[in-house]
Amino acid sequence: MAEPATGAKGSPAVGEPLFEVENLVKHYVVRRGAFLGGGGVVRAVDDVSFTLRRGETLGIVGESGCGKSTLARVLLRLVEPTSGRAVLAGENLFELGAREMRLARRRLQIIFQDPFASLNPRMTVAEIVREPWAIFPGVVPRAERHDRVVDLLTRVGLNADDAHRHPHQFSGGQRQRIGIARSLALNPEIVICDEPVSALDVSIQAQVINLLEEIQDEFGLSYIFIAHDLSVVRHISDRVAVMYLGKFVELGTWREIYERPTHPYTQALLSAVPAIDPAERTRRIILEGEVPSPIDPPSGCRFRTRCRMAEARCAAEEPALVARAGSHPSACHFAAPAGS
Ligand code: ADP
Ligand code: MG
Repeated sequence: MAEPATGAKGSPAVGEPLFEVENLVKHYVVRRGAFLGGGGVVRAVDDVSFTLRRGETLGIVGESGCGKSTLARVLLRLVEPTSGRAVLAGENLFELGAREMRLARRRLQIIFQDPFASLNPRMTVAEIVREPWAIFPGVVPRAERHDRVVDLLTRVGLNADDAHRHPHQFSGGQRQRIGIARSLALNPEIVICDEPVSALDVSIQAQVINLLEEIQDEFGLSYIFIAHDLSVVRHISDRVAVMYLGKFVELGTWREIYERPTHPYTQALLSAVPAIDPAERTRRIILEGEVPSPIDPPSGCRFRTRCRMAEARCAAEEPALVARAGSHPSACHFAAPAGS
């Protein structure tokens, strides 16, 4: 089989660089607490760089607490970055004033994990979907708004009648569809999906992912798709970044990450994914313990305390995220494909 030029889904539309994130850092300063004792600095996102191309889906995967949601929120400036740049069409979002940032948000939307928490329970579905037009009245002329709401609802698999109902009258999967319709209301270029299916039943997850994939081509969207499990982003990602304790530890194309992963953390995450084809099943690597505190991360390689390959060097020297031995970028001193 020929290598897909753009990833698993082979979408034809992956184009020029659209969004360039450079050396992004988000440290939360936490004060001395009455119970916890000393305060400190939570290194939630610690020097992350990547480029998102037009029409592309970049999957970002890592266990809970690795900094994925913080990364998403900082890119939209729902929380302020500590340092770094995020350049969208030549503009560094982190330098924009409040008014300019509001305008930029039209191009950059987010879908959250919990559609219930992110949808106002007192509003009807129609009000939720059209709310962004109050801020951007020019996007859809007033006379066309009703029809556009119905179009968007139909497009995401809901009905015209649903426009008058309230969020609590829907299932979790349907509520996520409402959130997707709303995210499309402003014709964005980038949609950041922060674990959009993690709260849904497995049977519903695939339907929502399929919907996101369909509307991607139709609306010309680029996605940053966050998940804690490599299986979730398997079918939608062109490239995948694996995140651990605030850092990207491996970044590659679909094929590089799923077929030739070089970082022990990626290999462990992947071995936890049930393989359909028995020939694909690798020896299961058990990932022991939990993600250490980002207030006091391990010296050197942050993954070393859970790594089956760790040696003295790993505690002393932090491995950079660089390509080794002709392979894709991986932040491990011993980065090597499994079985080599
Ligand atoms: P993920 O989405 O990968 O689960 P998060 O970005 O939510 O990770 O959290 C990353 C780290 O930052 C965690 O240790 C979390 O406790 C911490 N964190 C998140 N928000 C705050 C905050 N407002 N203040 C202090 N620490 C925070
Ligand atoms: Mg999260």
